[in-house]
Amino acid sequence: MSISVYSKLPNIGTTIFTTMSALAVKHNAINLCQGFPDFEMSKRLVSLVNEAMKKGHNQYAHMCGLPALREQLASKVNTDYDCTINPENQITITPGGTYAIYTSFTSFLQPRDEVILFEPAYDSYIPNIEINGAVPVPIQLSYPDYSIDWNLVKEKINHKTKAIIINTPHNPTGSVWSEHDIQQLREIVKDTKILIISDEVYEHLIFDNKKHFSILRYPDLFERSFVCFSFGKVYHCTGWKMGYCIAPEHLMKEFRKVHQFNSFSCNSPIQFALAEHLKDASQYKELGNFLQQKRDYFHNMMMQTKFVSLPSYGSYFQLFNYEKISDENEFDFAERLTKEAGVATIPVAAFYKNGVDHKVLRFCFAKKESTLENAVERLIKYLQ
Ligand code: GLN
Repeated sequence: MSISVYSKLPNIGTTIFTTMSALAVKHNAINLCQGFPDFEMSKRLVSLVNEAMKKGHNQYAHMCGLPALREQLASKVNTDYDCTINPENQITITPGGTYAIYTSFTSFLQPRDEVILFEPAYDSYIPNIEINGAVPVPIQLSYPDYSIDWNLVKEKINHKTKAIIINTPHNPTGSVWSEHDIQQLREIVKDTKILIISDEVYEHLIFDNKKHFSILRYPDLFERSFVCFSFGKVYHCTGWKMGYCIAPEHLMKEFRKVHQFNSFSCNSPIQFALAEHLKDASQYKELGNFLQQKRDYFHNMMMQTKFVSLPSYGSYFQLFNYEKISDENEFDFAERLTKEAGVATIPVAAFYKNGVDHKVLRFCFAKKESTLENAVERLIKYLQ
């Protein structure tokens, strides 16, 4: 007889990324569902890790992250975002951006606190909030431009509102905040104790000369924020699961209390390698153009199909509406495309608590041109 437990996440199943990737493998489908590149990462960075291992950097790193890496990061963000981050007490290296977000929530949420989030939302946010006994308060982005209706945000704020989680460039829609959004946020949180979690993992994957409005640029917002970043998205190594969080000292102190008894520290040799590799800013400065070309390449080929594109200004993703092809719901259509056309995508309904269905799928274009070509060929053949 098995001993039953009272689930801490009774309404949560397996993440859509695992589900769809497994389906893709089973049916030999091209994986445009999970957000990861299939092209090579920097050979230099790989050899730097190798060298660090050979030099014997194989034991625990500092709990907060290798000091040399934190210093390098401080100098990067201070230049990029015109801020004055202190590597000593405002940066912690984490095993991935998702972990940084979870740890931020866990370091301050109390049962019954409310957290505002914008849907469609990356699928870890709600479980992260609920596992802390707090209450997610989803606000829908307006369709089809996925912008924020700030009046709705004002309506949802009350004395229980503990935090707002924001994400720009946005997963899954590829929308990007304007300065107007930042100004609205500033006004709304001014004179409140509301905290901000800012998911900025796609900071450098931004297109069409758009600017990334990092929270780090605004001292009045930063003083109440946890800002989360990812190395995987910057250096094409999502499997390394490395990221970092930047927060003011009093918040970072609480973050570190949780982190030290969870993963404690992160992969040592990779931190040595990143500290060296980060010195070359050109690596991440070219990223926007590089991914923009992929977006355009994929988009132009997709115009041969009846899929209708929604604009993507950043991230790895572009949404396509399939109303002209089918009236099935998103889950059924995505499943059929995977099994029968051999192309795996993500139903955007998976990013809503109550499964809103606009008949749109998320495609990841961070792939080799040949992968994108094969995928579109399969779609054309199947849908003709
Ligand atoms: N962030 C990636 C995506 O949105 C995948 C994350 C994951 O698989 N957990 O596809």
